[in-house]
Amino acid sequence: MEEIQEQELKVGTFACTSCGADLKYKPGTVHLSCEYCGASNEIPQIDADIKKLDFNAYLANQSESIETSVESYVKCESCGASSTLEPNVTSALCPYCSTPLVVEQAKDEKIIQPKSLLPFKLDKNGAKGEFKKWIKKLWFAPNDLKKAALNFDHFKGVYIPYWTFDTDTFTRYIGQRGEYYYVTETYTTTENGKSVTKTRQVRKTRWYPASGSVKRFFDDILTVATKSLPQKYIYKLEPWDLQNLIPFDKSYLSGFITEKYQIELEEGFEIAKGIAEPEIRSLVRRDIGGDEQRIISMNTQYDDITFKHLLLPVFVSAYKFKGKLYQFLVNGRTGEVQGQRPYSWIKITLTSLAVAAIIALIIYFTNN
Ligand SMILES: [Zn+2]
Ligand SMILES: [Zn+2]
Repeated sequence: MEEIQEQELKVGTFACTSCGADLKYKPGTVHLSCEYCGASNEIPQIDADIKKLDFNAYLANQSESIETSVESYVKCESCGASSTLEPNVTSALCPYCSTPLVVEQAKDEKIIQPKSLLPFKLDKNGAKGEFKKWIKKLWFAPNDLKKAALNFDHFKGVYIPYWTFDTDTFTRYIGQRGEYYYVTETYTTTENGKSVTKTRQVRKTRWYPASGSVKRFFDDILTVATKSLPQKYIYKLEPWDLQNLIPFDKSYLSGFITEKYQIELEEGFEIAKGIAEPEIRSLVRRDIGGDEQRIISMNTQYDDITFKHLLLPVFVSAYKFKGKLYQFLVNGRTGEVQGQRPYSWIKITLTSLAVAAIIALIIYFTNN
């Protein structure tokens, strides 16, 4: 029997015990603090194991206890992200693409409850500092960008949804092992106007059939569950200090936006397979041995799949520059910055001309 445990997870409903204002999580601490009277409330620390859930049981809907939660999200019509709103807002922009959100359309949705999270370690100012350093180091960025980027209105702290998977893999493969051998070849060439015959060693490869199997256990394959951020940048925010994950507690979400996963569990596992595959291929190559390997077919069985749904802290900045959308991400733990950037063709052209002029001068002076 499926037993659904529902928990109310309204974000931003922690009231200050001294003045009644909304409490917000203070990054880098275990406290909720009040912006108005400065009161600080400690978040009780839970000393629980972060449970991993059985993937197939979940998909078959037979899990003993699938914990779901209900949260109010507003969906962005432009990029598809569903995010929570800061409390008491009457207007808001999508944190990912700066499209205005229709706040009245926020509605309750049921999701698989996150099991754990990494709280923000950097506050907004800390993240801005990292971002400013990064912008300054950019070569060939238009000056307007530097100005635009210093406007932090669109700079939001967002808990991004992720899945992690553990799985035991068993792979059967059929391939070929290539071994090098050398043959002596004779050839003719012209030396001092005369035709001469010479020999040389030429490398060849002899192929042998190979087949077998490899095993590998994967621990915590991390896949991002949002589609609204550029994948090539979000994966570059790694490594995350997953050893510091704490059991889910909504206190850490207050004062921040939380995004609902757009990539469902099953699709997330397909992405995880894609991440595991190169590692399996290299194991197969090692197993084949020899000097070169060919993999003809590979069949992987994924056993004992477990998953966790977790939230990781990222500062997101999106703005439009000359009609184009640029997105920047700052890892809310490490300060790592990744993002899209425009290039100034004027600066590149001027620099290339200057470099060419310097080279020309050097050639001129060294030859005279
Ligand atoms: Zn207060
Ligand atoms: Zn959006």
